Amino acid sequence: MSAATRATLHQELAALYAALDTEVRATAVRCDLRGVCCDFEKAGHVLYATDLEVDFARDHGGAAPPEAAADACPFFQRNQCHLREGRPLGCRVYFCDPAYAEAMHDLAERYHRRVVALHEAHGVAYRYAPFVRTIREEPRT
Ligand code: SF4
Repeated sequence: MSAATRATLHQELAALYAALDTEVRATAVRCDLRGVCCDFEKAGHVLYATDLEVDFARDHGGAAPPEAAADACPFFQRNQCHLREGRPLGCRVYFCDPAYAEAMHDLAERYHRRVVALHEAHGVAYRYAPFVRTIREEPRT
């Protein structure tokens, strides 16, 4: 991928995330900042992201800290996210508030389709894989 294509993709992904964040805020979802959603073992889920999202995360948060546990999100430290600007769609859309469950499903589907469309529009290979594993891999670009 050329540097220009990569820059365009990152710009478009940032705009997509901003639109998603606005829609999430409009739902008035409740968050008590317990951090359980970032502790995958406790929450019982796996965070997936596309390679484009992983590349964007690297650009906005650097490499995964080596001291982090292999099965936890490496950016969850001292009960805080240290990848706030670069966190992937799954983090932005997921909240444990039961009243938000239906809205979450709709937002996740719609915005994931838009991420896929970004790949297609720029002819970029698409891979959707566990975030913690791929962020630890050698960058592909
Ligand atoms: S990137 Fe941030 S929000 Fe997402 S799981 Fe990791 S610590 Fe939590």
